[in-house]
Amino acid sequence: MRRYIADDVLHRLLIVRGFKVRRIINITDVGHLTRDDIDRGEDKMLVAAVREKKSPMVIADFYTKAFMADSQALALLEPEQYTRATDHITEMLALIERLIAADKAYVSNGSVYFSVAAFPEYGALSGNTLSQLRSHVRAELKDEVLAEKRAPEDFVLWVKAPKEHLLQWPSPWGPGYPGWHIECAAMILKHLGETIDIHTGGEDHIFPHHEDEIAEAQAATGKPLARFWMHVRHLFVDSKRMAKRDGTFLRLQDLVTKGYQPLAFRFLALSAHYVTRLNFTWEALDAATQGWTRVTQVVSQLREQLTHATGKTTTTSSLKRQIDELLLRFNNALDDNLGTPQALAVLSELVNLSNKVLSTRATPMADINLLLETFLEMDRVLAILPQVPASSLEDDELAWLKKKIDQRTQLRKKGSFKQADAIRKEIIERGIDIEDRTGGVRYFKKATGQSGTIAL
Ligand SMILES: [Zn+2]
Repeated sequence: MRRYIADDVLHRLLIVRGFKVRRIINITDVGHLTRDDIDRGEDKMLVAAVREKKSPMVIADFYTKAFMADSQALALLEPEQYTRATDHITEMLALIERLIAADKAYVSNGSVYFSVAAFPEYGALSGNTLSQLRSHVRAELKDEVLAEKRAPEDFVLWVKAPKEHLLQWPSPWGPGYPGWHIECAAMILKHLGETIDIHTGGEDHIFPHHEDEIAEAQAATGKPLARFWMHVRHLFVDSKRMAKRDGTFLRLQDLVTKGYQPLAFRFLALSAHYVTRLNFTWEALDAATQGWTRVTQVVSQLREQLTHATGKTTTTSSLKRQIDELLLRFNNALDDNLGTPQALAVLSELVNLSNKVLSTRATPMADINLLLETFLEMDRVLAILPQVPASSLEDDELAWLKKKIDQRTQLRKKGSFKQADAIRKEIIERGIDIEDRTGGVRYFKKATGQSGTIAL
């Protein structure tokens, strides 16, 4: 999720800077699992799937849903589309056939391999050039796999499926399933075109996944797959890569179970630049929770103060100057390769400034408003503030309600209580409760939590 938080900051910043963003997230839901994998696996979900005779699709669906729930809890923007590998087998087969026709790939014993030697640009992203690859690739391969390949560094596009393989599709080369890299290459080419602007991923994807995606797409189209690559460094737990056997494999839900807020984890993720490794410890999450709470508390204090502040509508000019300066530094930090730690430092200064303003007497309403708006402006990119329902009704509905309440007041003045009651019923039917108070009518819309008072 750390990687997706970094992606989300980029997505949000591009929107704030006026770009129209077309983004897809690939769900590589083809279960490359054999019964052996499951037997060896310690994952309870997989074991349960076999015991309950569930298909890999059910497992993939389970994790897809869990990913989406976590995404929502972390306030990640939705992409234009989640593209699923299993919906794109036709496109993958077409791309593989195109590569075979161009002599960049070959069929061997029911599988199809990409011929690395036929793509001289191989290694440009990862630095793993052909000669470097050859020296260590051989040791890792089983003899029967090696025998199928023209060269040990060649990688698989289509895998001949053994009978027991749980997911397989017919192909011109016999039943099989796609290799991982071809899934992404085919989905990108279909939905975003031959050259995309930005391809993101975790650092563990650089090689082989992204290097092989480039080879497949570029060998077919002759054009670069992506103009920019953005790779997010690992999140380590207790200074090690997450591993189930060390008890360091954590999901967002594990944090929630312990009582932590997902957005406090988002705050922690933003506190490290995406190009550096982030070491997760519970102490670090505690510290992040403290920092996050400072921000959310001051924002709710500002919201509360809005109702008590004096009515002065002009902002104090010194405050305006200080805020302009903070916003400038905030934006510069983000524009400099998504410098979120620096942006959070500026946010912390805004918290200090707000506390100072809140502690002075008779603060002009305009000052409170300006501070609150600045928090919300910064939060368009950071997205760490919990969502609160809009305080009052939207303009259209509010105008409608004002008109109805006006009519009702006029009718009551004339003594037409029956007609006045009919209007009250009409308002209630729209899901809005009203209550007569001295000098006004208080309204409350249950569905959204929106409320306010209409002065009479
Ligand atoms: Zn991919």
